[in-house]
Amino acid sequence: MNRYWSRVTQQLTPYVPGEQPQIDGLIKLNTNENPYPPSPRVLEAIRDAAGEALRRYPDPEATSFKAAVASFHGVPADHVFAGNSSDEVLAHVFVGLLKHDLPLLFPDITYSFYPVYCGLYGIEYCTVPLTADLSIRVQDYGIPNGGIIFPNPNAPTGRLLPLDDIEALLKAHPDSPVVIDEAYIDFGGTSAVSLVRTYPNLLVVQTLSKSRSLAGLRVGYAIGQPHLIEGLERVKGSFNSYPLDRLAIAGATAAMEDVAYFEQTRRAIMASRTRLAEQLAQLGFEVLPSAANFVFARHPAHDGAALFRGLRERKVLVRHFKQPRIDQYLRITIGTDAECDALVAALREILG
Ligand SMILES: *Cc1c(COP(=O)(O)O)cnc(C)c1O
Repeated sequence: MNRYWSRVTQQLTPYVPGEQPQIDGLIKLNTNENPYPPSPRVLEAIRDAAGEALRRYPDPEATSFKAAVASFHGVPADHVFAGNSSDEVLAHVFVGLLKHDLPLLFPDITYSFYPVYCGLYGIEYCTVPLTADLSIRVQDYGIPNGGIIFPNPNAPTGRLLPLDDIEALLKAHPDSPVVIDEAYIDFGGTSAVSLVRTYPNLLVVQTLSKSRSLAGLRVGYAIGQPHLIEGLERVKGSFNSYPLDRLAIAGATAAMEDVAYFEQTRRAIMASRTRLAEQLAQLGFEVLPSAANFVFARHPAHDGAALFRGLRERKVLVRHFKQPRIDQYLRITIGTDAECDALVAALREILG
């Protein structure tokens, strides 16, 4: 509380990101970063862009990046919106497309930034409980609403909703914008981008932070029909005309173009996920089926918070949420096989 703060600021409850501690030898499996470096072509493109031209403003439309996204997904370039991280794209989506008289719907257990944006922009919302096995059931969204949003795969559960269910939801809510946050779709799901041409109410949001190893560059995008993109451009043009800097445009464009590297690294992560899930099951953990670059697991005989602390003492950092329904779970990012082995060794020691 401070007397110089506006009323809006006084009432904010900001998002709390996973820690980024500076501890020597830390095995960091807490924020779903990619264990592999960005493509060498990305680093080369950024080095080439780091020159005299930096005194000039960047391309406000990030044209080369949008063209690369459009080509990767097989959509026209006017179907693409670009932003400084998918969190920023989502912020524009919340105020630009999801603020209506009827409440916005999202799951009770999901990306915890959604209620934060609702607080910032004064958006009414209503949460829809996941089923007992922590799945999204689209029939449960049959409530009058001003919009629907959830990640697919969901976070932090990692569970994937089949495309048929998303299509059923789009058909059931033709008057509502439906936003699918596909931060993790490249680790085993099928993107809803293929439905964009058919459904004028669908917006798909993706990020380069996870499957393209660029959390540090801050680039995200959305794909939808031009009338949705135009709404987002209006918000962007009322906030920051140049959200992507010259280095980000160069690096992100190269990342979208290097499909071979993308395929290689995401496949390695999916293979490590299968291996880790098996090892955790052998230790007695219940592991939810994951289509993401993390697993969500609990041990029937060991408290989630205690496991989290035990791992931290052994320099292995995972994520634990002190939230009803999921406080016995650990969310563990898939690292390299060596990092996963270190996690398993630490768990074995803790479990005794
Ligand atoms: C990581 C994540 C984001 C944010 O990605 P950035 O582009 O790094 O801001 C958005 N949604 C979900 C569900 C995420 O897990």
